[in-house]
Amino acid sequence: MENHDKKITVDLGPRSYDILIGYKIIDQLGSILEKLNLGQDAVIITNQTIHHLHGGHLHSHLSRYGYSTRFMLVADSERSKSYKTCLDLIEKIAAYDTKKKIFIIAFGGGVIGDLSGFIASIYKRGIPYIQIPTTFLAQVDSSIGGKTGIDLASGKNLIGSFYQPRLVFSDISFLRTLSLKQIRNGMAEVIKYGVIKDRALFGYIEKNYKNILQLNIESIEKIVYACSKIKSGVVENDELDKTGKRATLNLGHTIGHAIEAAAGFTKEYSHGEAVAIGMVCAADISVKLGLLAAGDAKRIENVFKKIGLPVACSNLKLEQIMQAQSHDKKFIHGTNRFVLPVGIGKVTLKEGIPADIVEQAVSRRIK
Ligand code: NAD
Ligand code: MG
Repeated sequence: MENHDKKITVDLGPRSYDILIGYKIIDQLGSILEKLNLGQDAVIITNQTIHHLHGGHLHSHLSRYGYSTRFMLVADSERSKSYKTCLDLIEKIAAYDTKKKIFIIAFGGGVIGDLSGFIASIYKRGIPYIQIPTTFLAQVDSSIGGKTGIDLASGKNLIGSFYQPRLVFSDISFLRTLSLKQIRNGMAEVIKYGVIKDRALFGYIEKNYKNILQLNIESIEKIVYACSKIKSGVVENDELDKTGKRATLNLGHTIGHAIEAAAGFTKEYSHGEAVAIGMVCAADISVKLGLLAAGDAKRIENVFKKIGLPVACSNLKLEQIMQAQSHDKKFIHGTNRFVLPVGIGKVTLKEGIPADIVEQAVSRRIK
């Protein structure tokens, strides 16, 4: 494969950038960077796992193009999205940044992307960064759109900024080293896009789930492209999350996030697993409110089962989930806000769903 197969331009005026998607395209990065003219000194933020698997290739490629590379590693954990790690890294970057023109490469999953993007946004009031996402979730979701941030003890992503990358470079060959659990994690967000906006994508997943789980190149590339296109379209329409359009991307996240929080953000539920359960709850609420046909809710449930994602939780109590939900960011002015499917490929935003309807939907999904 000579050229990157697919390109999407995220059109945000002066903050526009390209998303490049393809298989084994890393060798094209140098020439693309030259055109972007971001500097000659790449600070590559990553972790040991990714560095070990894919760092060598990135380093030798960039060196061939005359870039200096400085890898800065953080722990392989959500806990790296902390102000401690963030400030330690900034100190390291500042010490390194003498007589250089540096730019940041976020080389990893969503944790690395969020942390690196945030650092790029605040160091010297903003320096350029690019995203090289290496997880399925990061390629279809977190690398696009410029939401950056770190966590506080009180909650995830509570400190952050909107700061767009200069390039998103999605080489799907990186995904070959992911575990099946990580592929499923990304698939929850992929199915989410199908339910929100793309009936054809949803149908494609129903038919091709086996190929997808086996990481068939054609299927994965098609999916990364379709999702990147949807996400960039939503971001173009509501870059700063003000009009409710970007909020539709939170389908399944109100209850999903409460499940993660109730489980203490342990590995018991990956984000995707929690969101899958959250989406079936949202579908059940929609059916109850007469907004969605029961048959469509069943289709949503079945596609999760095919992919191997859970549609119910165990080891959690209704009260824990409801309690966690009331602390969520998506609670605005003390009332809940849900994204609800009204068909496959269409959603609506609803506020103030009666507590008993939410509780019924959640309790049906507790084993
Ligand atoms: P992650 O970054 O923790 O990566 C998951 C695991 O995969 C890690 O252990 C990582 O080391 C490993 N890994 C990464 N690439 C690999 C590869 N190619 N081969 C083998 N292992 C690899 O998790 P994630 O699911 O990518 O991202 C989750 C984070 O993204 C959360 O912090 C979430 O808040 C954030 N997020 C942000 C946005 C946004 O718009 N900014 C959207 C969604 C999620
Ligand atoms: Mg998500």
